[in-house]
Amino acid sequence: MRTISIVVPCYNEEENVRVFYDELMKNADFFEEKDLVPEIIYIDDGSKDKTVEQIRMLAEEDQHVHMVSFSRNFGKEAALYAGLKKATGEFVVTMDVDLQDPPSLLPEMFGYLEEGYESVATRRVSRKGEPPIRSFFARRFYRLINRMSKTEIVDGARDYRLMTRKFTDAVLELKEYNRFTKGIFSWVGYETKWIEFENIERTKGETKWSFWKLFIYAIDGIVAFTTAPLAIASFLGVLFCVLAFVLIIVTIVRKAVFGDPTSGWPSLVCIISLISGVQLFCLGIIGQYMSKTYMEVKNRPQYLIRDEF
Ligand code: UDP
Ligand code: MG
Repeated sequence: MRTISIVVPCYNEEENVRVFYDELMKNADFFEEKDLVPEIIYIDDGSKDKTVEQIRMLAEEDQHVHMVSFSRNFGKEAALYAGLKKATGEFVVTMDVDLQDPPSLLPEMFGYLEEGYESVATRRVSRKGEPPIRSFFARRFYRLINRMSKTEIVDGARDYRLMTRKFTDAVLELKEYNRFTKGIFSWVGYETKWIEFENIERTKGETKWSFWKLFIYAIDGIVAFTTAPLAIASFLGVLFCVLAFVLIIVTIVRKAVFGDPTSGWPSLVCIISLISGVQLFCLGIIGQYMSKTYMEVKNRPQYLIRDEF
């Protein structure tokens, strides 16, 4: 008998806890056939509704259900980390509780592990049912980060991933505070099989991601996986030095050779505002990295546990 740990982060998902369990258990025959014992780990990310009660009720019925409950909302990345840490299985899978990651794909994914892959990742090929403006910015984000970072971040990649113990341990080796799981999965390497599926809309409840939250998340991802913006800041600095040098020469020559008066108050104002803008922009970039470094150095725990079984 081998254990397969199923890690499910939940934040205010009282309606989905049981629906997810029922859907997952449609794979019972598959588990039996492969000699797998499921270990279902719900991570309650500080939910304010009845999520915890729902998980407890399930656990009373099925001893394979486990829970880690946080003292407050620490975010999905922390929830995933806690789940991977708690998982004891030889195989581990992370998936959303809202059934946007269909459990019916598990047998196919498991097949690839048997072929020798260390992890099987999923990506959605469409963004059906998503606001167009969100899709637009998501696409731009993936193009940008992939141009800047050596770690490949796949467009449409979901956090739905089946992995071996070796892969899980590798992910757990990365203990950073600012976790960007999509990047971490890709960073650790190993043979990964990608499978694709059409976007599925959330069964019940609402998405926990506002546009603004996603925007911050995108910046965090860039800062966590590339230092290219710092290089851009240095490049801008050099560019403006060269420009200033050329302007000085031009002004001197105009005065000395042609005797033109050195006037130009309006252009001066434009130049000063442009350059101070660029300066503040670059300072902001440095600030982003500094603040992340500050958080890492503080070395605070990623999450605090209120309850666990
Ligand atoms: N989630 C979480 N903590 C949070 C936000 C979300 O654990 O702070 C969980 C949520 O319960 C769900 C998964 O992360 O299982 C994905 O969230 P959601 O469906 O809201 O995101 P979307 O699918 O819209 O990207
Ligand atoms: Mg979702």
